[in-house]
Amino acid sequence: MEISEPEVIRDKSLMRSWSRSRRSNGQTLALVPTMGFLHEGHLSLIRTAKSLADLTVVSIYINPGQFAPSEDLSTYPSDLAGDLRKLSDAGVSAVFCPSELYISAPGNDFGGHLGAVNGERVGASCLEDGGSGHETWITVERLEKGMCGTSRPVFFRGVATVVAKLFNIVEPDVAVFGKKDYQQWQIICRMVRDLDFAIKVIGSDIVREADGLAMSSRNVHLSPEQREKALSISRSLSKAKLAAEKGLKNCQHLKDLVRQTISEADGKIDYVEIVEQQGLKPVEEISCPVVLCVAAWFGNVRLIDNLEID
Ligand code: AMP
Repeated sequence: MEISEPEVIRDKSLMRSWSRSRRSNGQTLALVPTMGFLHEGHLSLIRTAKSLADLTVVSIYINPGQFAPSEDLSTYPSDLAGDLRKLSDAGVSAVFCPSELYISAPGNDFGGHLGAVNGERVGASCLEDGGSGHETWITVERLEKGMCGTSRPVFFRGVATVVAKLFNIVEPDVAVFGKKDYQQWQIICRMVRDLDFAIKVIGSDIVREADGLAMSSRNVHLSPEQREKALSISRSLSKAKLAAEKGLKNCQHLKDLVRQTISEADGKIDYVEIVEQQGLKPVEEISCPVVLCVAAWFGNVRLIDNLEID
C-alpha cells in the first residue's frame, strides 16, 4: 500500500482552510495535540484517533502559555525531523506545527512566557506593552485547582487556552488526549462541555515502558540511576491499588504507602492524591471509582503518573 506523506502546515489560516476543505467533502477529522518529541504514548493516541475519523491531524507546539518562568520551557526536548518521520510512518494526514500561536505586541516576544495570574506577574506580561498582545485566558475554575494546579499555577489556563485555540484553528470532530495527564484530560472535557465546542473528547490509556515507567518526553532528561529510581512511582501505584483491592479503603493509608515507596527511592513528592474519576474531588474512603495521582521529582525532572481504581 502506498503511504502518502503528511502535509506539514505551519500557518493558522492554511490549517483552517485545509480542515474546512476536507470537512466540506464530508470527511471527519481527529486532532491529537502534542508538544512533540513523540514516543509510543503519542503514537497510541494517533492510532485511537485514526480509528475514530477519516483523517488525523497531529499538532506539535511547545506552548509557552503553560510554562512558568521557573519551569523547563527552554530545555523541553524537541526533534521535529524525527517526529515527522514517525508521523509519516503512522499515516497521519497533516501535521500542524506553527512557530507561534499567540499574538505578541510589536517588539515583545514574551521572553518565552506569557501573562500574569491573579494579578501576580509570572513572566513577561503581555499587559506591560499597553495591552496589544495576547491577554485572553480560559480557566476551568475548580478542576484546575489542586494536584498539578497547586505547584504549576499557570499550567492549566495555558493548556485550556492553547487547546481552545487549536480547536478553533483545526475544527476537528474528535480530539484525543492521554489519561497520563488525567487532570488535563478532565479539564478539556469540562471546557468542551461548558463552552459548547462541537468536539468529542476521548481519553486514551497510559502507555508504559516494559518496566512500568509511564512514557513521557521528559524521561530523556533522567540519568540511568534516576530512571531506575523513578520506577518507584509506578511500583507505588500498583502496590496501593493491590492494597485497595484487598480491602484497604482508607485513602490516607493508601497515600502513605505511595509516599513511602517513592521517598525510599529518593523521589521528592510534589503531591499524592486520591480523587473521584469523575470530577476529581478528593476522597477519604474509597467507595466509588477513583484515580490515584502522583507527581514527584527525580533530580530536576518532575514526573506524573496515575492509576485508576474502579
Ligand atoms: P505532550 O506532548 O506531553 O503534551 O502530550 C501530548 C498528549 O499525549 C497528551 O494528551 C498526553 O496526555 C498524551 N501522552 C503523553 N504521554 C502519554 C503516555 N505515556 N500514554 C498515553 N498518553 C500520553
